[in-house]
Formats: sequence, C-alpha cells, structure tokens
Amino acid sequence: MPAPILRLALPSPLRRLFDYQAPESIPPGRLQPGVRLRVPFGRRDVVGVLVEVRTHSDVPPDKLREALSLLDREPPLPQSLFDLCLWTSHYYQHSLGDTFSWALPVLLRQGEPATAREQRYWHLAPDARADDPRLERAPRQREALKAIAQHPHGVPQALLGKLQLNRASLEGLIEKGLLRTEQRRSPPQPHHGSWLLEPPLPLNAQQRAAVEAVSAGFGGFHASLLAGVTGSGKTEVYLQLIHAVLEAGRQALVLIPEINLGPQTLARFERRFNARIVVLHSALSDRERLDAWLAARDGEADIVIGTRSALFTPLKRPGLIIVDEEHDGSYKQQEGLRYQARDLAVVRARLEGLPILLGSATPALESLHNAHTGRYALLRLDQRAGVARPPRFLRLDVKSRPLDAGLSAPLLQAMTQTLQAGQQVLVFLNRRGFAPTLLCHDCGWLSQCPRCDARMTLHQRHNELRCHHCGHAERPPTNCPQCRHVDLRPVGAGTERAEERLRTLLPDYPVLRIDRDSTARKGALDRLLDTVNRGEPCVLLGTQMLAKGHHFPRVTLVAILDADGGLFSGDFRASERMAQLIVQVAGRAGRAEEPGRVIIQTHLADHPLLVQLTEQGYFAFAEQALAERRAAGLPPFSHLALLRAEAHRPGQAEEFLELACQAAEKLIDENAAGGVELLGPVPSPMERRAGRYRAQLLFQSQARTPLHRLLGAWLPRIEQLPGARSVRWSLDIDPSDL
Ligand code: ADP
Ligand code: ZN
Ligand code: ZN
Repeated sequence: MPAPILRLALPSPLRRLFDYQAPESIPPGRLQPGVRLRVPFGRRDVVGVLVEVRTHSDVPPDKLREALSLLDREPPLPQSLFDLCLWTSHYYQHSLGDTFSWALPVLLRQGEPATAREQRYWHLAPDARADDPRLERAPRQREALKAIAQHPHGVPQALLGKLQLNRASLEGLIEKGLLRTEQRRSPPQPHHGSWLLEPPLPLNAQQRAAVEAVSAGFGGFHASLLAGVTGSGKTEVYLQLIHAVLEAGRQALVLIPEINLGPQTLARFERRFNARIVVLHSALSDRERLDAWLAARDGEADIVIGTRSALFTPLKRPGLIIVDEEHDGSYKQQEGLRYQARDLAVVRARLEGLPILLGSATPALESLHNAHTGRYALLRLDQRAGVARPPRFLRLDVKSRPLDAGLSAPLLQAMTQTLQAGQQVLVFLNRRGFAPTLLCHDCGWLSQCPRCDARMTLHQRHNELRCHHCGHAERPPTNCPQCRHVDLRPVGAGTERAEERLRTLLPDYPVLRIDRDSTARKGALDRLLDTVNRGEPCVLLGTQMLAKGHHFPRVTLVAILDADGGLFSGDFRASERMAQLIVQVAGRAGRAEEPGRVIIQTHLADHPLLVQLTEQGYFAFAEQALAERRAAGLPPFSHLALLRAEAHRPGQAEEFLELACQAAEKLIDENAAGGVELLGPVPSPMERRAGRYRAQLLFQSQARTPLHRLLGAWLPRIEQLPGARSVRWSLDIDPSDL
C-alpha cells in the first residue's frame, strides 16, 4: 500500500493546501486532522496543520516531499476551534495556514509541545524517615527532609528558594537515597469553596431582566446586545451571569478592547470571584501566553479575559462569551488576517452552541441593525445604576470666537468655576503633540512629511517634527527650508500645547496630561491616575486614552475641544465614531453624586447629527444615522470588500488594480454575480504613506453570497496578474476604514 498523502495548511499567504508524503515511521492511526507536523518548505522547515489524509496526490511522485516529524499525539485545537479557523479562512478569503498562525500561540506555531510545562519535583523516597540515623550529624539535611515531607505531592523546583532549602542538603539527601526527583507537569489547582468573594449587588429591574434573558439561553446559541448607558451597571450584569456560568461548572470568555481596560476590569473580577482567572494581554511572554492558553483549553482556568486574539482561545467547558464595548475599533484587526473579533465571537458561539452577550453604551450601528432584524435580542439599561445621574450636554458654538490653544473664553470660564467649586475637569483633545503643523509665515511652507501625504506634528518637548503615520522624525528647522526666513509658527493645538497654555491660564491647579507620549514610561499612567483619584481639583487633559474604562468620580465637567472632524470626513463611519467617542468621554463625568456637564466646542452647532446626539442621546442619533445609511445603501444595508494595493512607483498600484478590476468585471459578466458593484480604482485617502503610493478598489453588494462567490473566483486570478508580486496588496472583507 502506498504511503498516505497528507494535505497540510502551511504558514504561507498562498490560499491552498500542500501535499506531503507521510513518513513510514508514523503509525497511520496517529495522523488525525488537526495535528501539527514539521515539513520541509522551500529551503526551510515549517510547522503545518494536517487538514486531510488522502490516498493520492496531483503532485507528481518525484516532486512530493516527505513530512519530517509529527508534533502532537492529539490535535492541539479542539474540533470547534478548528472549524472556526476554517470558517474564518473562508469568510475572510485568507490562507488557512496563515489563519492557524494567527489563532495559535507563537510557541505552538514554532512547534513547542501543546502540553502544560513540566518541572522538576522533589519528594521523599518511599521509606525515608526523619529519624534516619544517618541524619543525626546532618541537621540541615534533616530539616530539609522534614520540610519536604510536608508536601505529599512533592516540592516543585520553583518553590525551593521560598522554602529556604539549599542545594547541598538536597544533594546529600539524594545521595543517601532518601530523596528523589521527578520531571512532571504541575498538578491542576482544583477550585475550592464558594465562587464568590463578595456578595453581588441587588439588581435593578432592567439589570435583572437582562440577566434572566441571557441565562434563559444557557446551553444553546443565543446572541444578545446589552445596550446600556455608561454607568448603567453592565459590568454587574456580566459578573452575575459569569457567576451562574461558574455554578454550572462552565468557563466564561470575556473579550475587552485593547486600550488600558486591563487592570481596572481585572481588579473587579478578582474582587468578586474565587476563581482561576487568566488574562491574555500583550505584555505576556510567549511562554506565559501558552501556559494561559493551555489552562483555558484544559479547563484549569474558569474565566478567560483577553483582547481581540483571545477569541481563539479554546475552552474545555465553554459556557458564555461576553464582548465588552463591542463597538470598539480594536476588535478589528488591521493587518494580515483582517478579522472582526466581535463578529467571529458570534460565529464561535454558534459553532459551540453558546450564549453570547455583546455590551456597549454606544453599540455599533451593525449591532443595532442586527438587534432590529431579530438576530440579536436587544436588552437595554436606560438608567445609571446607583446615585449617578446622566450628564447634560451643551454645544458651544465657536464660530468666529478666538481660540487660545484650542480653548474658547466661555469654556475657560466654566472650567474655572468647576475648579473653584473643588471639582475636577476633563479636557478631551484627540491630537497628540504640540501643534499639528509648522508653518512659514512668510512663504507658506508647511512641515510636510517627506514620505507621506501628511503634515508632521511638532513635539516641542522633544524638539522634533514627527509624522504620526510613518514614524519619520526630524529636528524642526530654525529657518524656513524654502525662503530662509525665521518666522516659523506652530499652527493649531495638540495636547502638549493645550497643557502648556492651561498651566499658564490656571496656575493654581495641577494640569495632568494623559496621552501616548506622557504615559510611555512604565508606571507613568498609574501615577497620573493616582493623583486624579486623590480627588483634589485638577484638569485632566488627554486623548482617547481617557475615553475608555476609567471612572473619575470627581470629574463634573467634560470639555470636548474639537468634535468637527467626525462631521465632515470622507469616511462614512466617521460620524458614528465621533458620536461614540463623545458619549464615551462624556460617560466619565459625574459618575458619583455630582451631576456632570459636557461642553462640546464646535463650528457646526446646528449639525443635525450633533443636535440629535446631544439632545436625545446616542440611540436617537443611531436611528438617524442608520436611516442615512439605508438611504445611501451603505453598510449594514450592504456589504463591502476593499482591495488595497501599494507600490514604490506612482501609478503602479492603480495599474495593478485596473487589471484586477477588469478581471472582476469579466467574472461578473460571465456568471452574473448579480448586484455586485465595483467602485474605483481610486487613490487612497492618503495616497502616499511611508514612501509608498496607495490605491484601492471597493466592492459593494446588497447580498453577501454573490459578493463572496465573486471574490472566491477572482482571487486566484489576481494572484496570477503580472503585477501581483511587485505590488503589495491585501483584501479586507467588511473594512472598517475606507
Ligand atoms: P457600566 O459597566 O455600565 O459602565 P458599571 O457596572 O461599572 O456600569 O456600574 C457603574 C456603577 O454602578 C458601579 O460603581 C457599580 O458598582 C454601580 N452599580 C451597578 N449596578 C448596581 C446596582 N444594581 N445597585 C447599585 N449600584 C450598582
Ligand atoms: Zn518660508
Ligand atoms: Zn510620514
């Protein structure tokens, strides 16, 4: 009988599987789909995942290479996660092997065993006794023996130091045959006692209804959207649902956004639960990540909390998935496998037969639409929990008013009043640096980035011009590079400049700047937040880092310096994002007894969306925005896919896209992919970035199926196009930025 043929998914962008011959040394029974094998690929060895075993291959026998070794006894991923990867690869039209690479921890991709780490254990020999006569003259060895005797399962290597056991005594005991060592994995730490460390809060009626609605769906697939205003007690709903999940002997997976939600959220879970919690965050080492992943897979973690990629964490006894702040942009991966973790979480819940809860104060329009059409159950929390009241909004028209570092006189007055009343002010300005550009007052020269179609931001403290798009940095010139005059002026204001002005204008109060620059050093953010939490009047000034997850009970005034960008951007999602940001920032105010106020500086005080948002709230805004999307045939009322391309030579990307476009049109004619429209190719909004010229081609379709059918037939063709190797290109399904 000929050796079986192994079809493997390999870490390669190519959308296909690769055939290998099974070595005779591997018993065929061990070749189950899902196991990893090491195989030769080009001149390297790579780790692949077995997808299928066949009896023949289309590859000629003399070209067929043999796999090198089998890495697993059992597939490292359970079937449901394997299926999720298949689904993901298919939906996002992405190579399956590369999809596995995104889903698996780094060490597994590299071939590390998918089993918990082993360590050395020290334990007594069967007949060892502390009164052994040989120990009479060796008191330290006797003490060591006694100490180890306290641990019936042995003492792991890592604990030796803590128990103050020295190496020499241990070696002595081994020589006498009284002690043995053994290499094994640490025993699982089972859960003991009650799950709760603190009593749950008594729920209000809406919270109770939400908990009941979700728990009624335990044991099967059921998707709900928890739309609760900030401070309405969504987290309490999560905690009580998780408690029910734990009581049922199951595990909960909680996805959170990327930016600094970690410590505060974690603290709340740890205060509430006597449970084994693992957190998957970016600061973990590869080994720590694998250990956490294995603990989740093997059922040794009860609650798994993590950002986007934690979605792919296998669970032995899955009970519930929660996606907190489901609207957050960080759930969309913007490179490689461009997946939307919130959407995939729903797919996963369906595959595993689980309830899923998406929560947000400002749900994505897509999610609201899904609630309207009945795909998600809509659960609402309309009131703030506890004593806090909703903030009041004021649109401050700054047309033709002088602005000082972005601040208008009436705003400064309101800030002063608030501070004098002993309260805190939060100023939101979503722009880092001192000034967004440097201008020559004589000739109009601007600090253009040499590699991008963008201006470089002046960072005065570091005396640098920096491009926020490509990272290019240089010293600001002292004379204009164009006319040699010296009258170079910073134009506009970023957080650094606003900070400087506020220090001068409000000398009696601390001004705390919180942005990526001021918090770059470890511990800096915590120090700043500690100062705020002390409660004395101060001004907190910062970017969207301030918008997420924090509670500032003493903040009673929130100032939004510039809301206009979101109202006239070319990206149809800009107004949604602006509204979410305003509501999230506003939600930081007045979370305790004091009511909050939100002042929005704008040049478009009568803009209907802004009026709707500030007078009737986010949900009214969202309805209006959805109506506009429907009228314009934009998502969620249609589906998009975007082919992006970039190249070193101007025009090169567009030439490639032009050919790609023709190939697509031909397919549309051939098999009538009805209703799919092509827009472009056009230069990207910022055509040149990091020295490359970029262009894009957009697909729009009322129905998803014809779009996907078309893309599936089209991709193999464009892979063959002349430019396909010299142009960098990628396909983004359901793109979030256009
Ligand atoms: P969200 O997650 O919706 O922003 P939180 O769960 O953080 O809201 O709740 C906001 C505040 O209200 C917290 O201090 C929380 O302890 C409190 N809270 C939540 N639910 C209740 C309740 N049922 N009774 C009293 N206080 C509550
Ligand atoms: Zn000049
Ligand atoms: Zn640049």
